[in-house]
Amino acid sequence: SAKAKGKNNYQFFSDDMSLIVSRKIALENELRRALTNKEFLLHYQPQFNAHTGEITGMEALVRWQITDGEIISPANFIPLAEETRLILPLGEWVLNTACEQVKIWHDAGHSHLKLAVNLSPLQFLDDDLLDMVGRALDQTGFPASSLELEITENVAVDDIDLALLRMQALKELGVNLAIDDFGTGYCSLSYLKKFPLTNLKIAQSFVRDMAINPHDEALVEAMVLIGHKLNMSVIAEGVETEEQLALLKELGCDEIQGYLFSKPLTTDHFSQLLSKEFATKNPVY
Ligand code: C2E
Ligand code: MG
Ligand code: MG
Ligand code: MG
Repeated sequence: SAKAKGKNNYQFFSDDMSLIVSRKIALENELRRALTNKEFLLHYQPQFNAHTGEITGMEALVRWQITDGEIISPANFIPLAEETRLILPLGEWVLNTACEQVKIWHDAGHSHLKLAVNLSPLQFLDDDLLDMVGRALDQTGFPASSLELEITENVAVDDIDLALLRMQALKELGVNLAIDDFGTGYCSLSYLKKFPLTNLKIAQSFVRDMAINPHDEALVEAMVLIGHKLNMSVIAEGVETEEQLALLKELGCDEIQGYLFSKPLTTDHFSQLLSKEFATKNPVY
């Protein structure tokens, strides 16, 4: 043990650990407070039809706006939110808020738009999931068929049968299921064929390197084929260059999401983008 190594070592180890623990508790309290104070907000990143350039929908992405106006990215608080289970109330807030907002866009004449919302593994396996999704749809009047829930391969690692049951129950609610960051998780292809998925999202890491590494290009090509063979619509994430776009179109990718067209946008900026497309009747890219 650390203590056996001598008093100084023990002291050092102990201080170090308590610092980590107390920082964590402080951050946990901050998260809890932020939820009550409504310090979270959503950005929406548009998704485009790869061939026509039309906006097909958007992915809702959560941000934490701390009091001095600084915005914290989800990579810095989602892991702790999961660990503390605060992801459950936070995730419910995200789903409600996104459905409410996109319903407004639907009612303003953009009823074709699909909304994608991320579900963390903890949310996906939570017993209240189906009721939670049902409540969000009921309360907002948002159509289930326009909602796409994004899960990762890792939801199936611990209990494949439970994961499958959950997916089937969500499908029965009428919502669509997307597999996010495809190719980076631990799921085997034999599981994939059993899952009632409608959308496959090719992970950013493959897209990033596809124009410079023929192996990445080959994998992207294979992922598009797998997706299509399994009746899924395939979307590429993290598209940043014209070269990547050209390749993805050539490989038959259906939809595109990435900085090349747009970063995640505030509600106001997304509304502006929609009016621009609507007014010109032209794709925005
Ligand atoms: P994700 O679901 O894979 O979302 C895509 C991430 O890639 C977003 O980061 C987006 O801003 C970023 N991105 C989009 N296009 C590009 C591009 O062209 N280049 C680069 N470099 N990045 C791009 P963000 O918003 O920071 O979110 C990070 C992750 O946090 C998400 O990855 C998702 O796993 C998680 N997350 C975000 N919002 C939520 C949420 O509401 N609930 C849950 N459970 N997780 C969320
Ligand atoms: Mg979509
Ligand atoms: Mg996602
Ligand atoms: Mg992703």
